[in-house]
Amino acid sequence: MFPEVEIYDTTLRDGSQGEGINFSSVDKVRIAEKLDSFGVKYIEGGWPGSNPKDMEFFKQAARRKWRNARIAAFTMTRRKGMAVENDDLMRQILASKAPVATIVGKTWLLHVLEVLRAKPDENLAMIADTIRYLKDQGKEVIYDAEHAFDGFLDDPDYALATWQAAEKAGVDRVVLCDTNGGRLPAEIARIVATAISKLSVPVGIHTHNDCGLGVANTLAAIEAGATQVQGTINGYGERTGNCNLISVIPLLHLKLKKTAVPQRSLPKLKELSEFVDEIANVRHDPRQPWVGETAFAHKGGMHVHAIDRVARSYEHIDPQAVGNHRRVLVSDMSGRTNILMKAAELGFKLTPEAPETRSITAEVKRLEGLGYEYEAAEASLALLIGKTLAHRELPFNVDGYHVSIRNHGGTSVCEATVKVRVGAKTAHTVAEGDGPVNALDTALRNALSGFFPALKKVRLTDYKVRILDGVEGTAAKTRVLIASSDGHRDWGTVGVDENIISASLQALSDSLEYRLLHG
Ligand SMILES: [Zn+2]
Repeated sequence: MFPEVEIYDTTLRDGSQGEGINFSSVDKVRIAEKLDSFGVKYIEGGWPGSNPKDMEFFKQAARRKWRNARIAAFTMTRRKGMAVENDDLMRQILASKAPVATIVGKTWLLHVLEVLRAKPDENLAMIADTIRYLKDQGKEVIYDAEHAFDGFLDDPDYALATWQAAEKAGVDRVVLCDTNGGRLPAEIARIVATAISKLSVPVGIHTHNDCGLGVANTLAAIEAGATQVQGTINGYGERTGNCNLISVIPLLHLKLKKTAVPQRSLPKLKELSEFVDEIANVRHDPRQPWVGETAFAHKGGMHVHAIDRVARSYEHIDPQAVGNHRRVLVSDMSGRTNILMKAAELGFKLTPEAPETRSITAEVKRLEGLGYEYEAAEASLALLIGKTLAHRELPFNVDGYHVSIRNHGGTSVCEATVKVRVGAKTAHTVAEGDGPVNALDTALRNALSGFFPALKKVRLTDYKVRILDGVEGTAAKTRVLIASSDGHRDWGTVGVDENIISASLQALSDSLEYRLLHG
């Protein structure tokens, strides 16, 4: 049977309710296509009728051929006191042409009586009528039991009656939702097991992450027998988000040995996670389990030494299984092994006995003593290793610079002049900026992009300043770490000086030099 656990993605509906997440209908189609080729079973596109963007998505979706996924449209049970066929909600869900209809309904008497202000029996009829109507229209129907766990703990008989009403009406799946995200794994496991023992229709799970238990609660439900997981990519969703499918999928495959997506998709997990972040314009979380940049990063010298011998000694899985990679962080804790592994990762061939290895290690230690830091500045380290090994010419030299700040009645204007030399040619440019570093960055890039057009795409994405020793007051050293991007790759560089402007210039020149040499 494939899959043993169905993945139901609700990134485009529940996920888009997260703060700062906004998808256009084009974004939604792109994400849906990615999810389809990854191999999830269901893609919930939105709530037809709730906004024009969702309707446009369904229009586009109806025209496409989906290879693996079924498209689901979301709505709620018919309204109270209304015949189902007269309810606008039903007209909209049919107009979406989605083959799957997902219906949310009430389990918790508190909600039935006080929010809906309906009689308990009326709620049961609302569930049954809606499901029966949509089944008669040929839809696959999934029933999302809102507040299933809170409702069950409050009144188990009534909760069960709502789920059984759905089953009797011919529903295809009953999905228990921890809507408020407040329940614990043991409660989830017990209630899911009870539901499974009383129902013959497959049971699914939909959790939220309010207690940091979104994934744990889902896992508890699966171990209790649930066979569908509803969640979102990267855990997007209201408040603290939904259950993160990017964690659930490898947990199912690698820890529980249950298939959820085609086996060949698992190494594309990191790519999927990054793709969705990119479309949502969210910075990829470096500490995200499984797929973050630091998920398999090693720093301690002892760990690094052991990893070099037997990777599994300090790693719970092979990072490549989910498309991630091992990283070795260079720090003053590190010895020669770190430098060797780092060099190999950056594409240099170094042997432990080579005299260059000793001189690079010594140079890194010396610079770290001066306040340089290479953990987030791998590009500066690559340049340092490259310089020692290849003795190559610098692609450009900065012969001089000048930065000035003028203030006119409260507004400041920063101006930077930079003189660069490339081979026998020189360029001299002036630029203004919001601040001195911004002006310097613009002037330097303008001067160089005449020689190297590729540098036009480079952008400074992050800039951090750390004062290293406050004892000497303004004469203290300043470390500047910058992150740059060309839209495809990101890299970090570092500069240290007593003067913040020249520390910044070092980091900026390293960044551009790195792009030219390793672009
Ligand atoms: Zn939800």
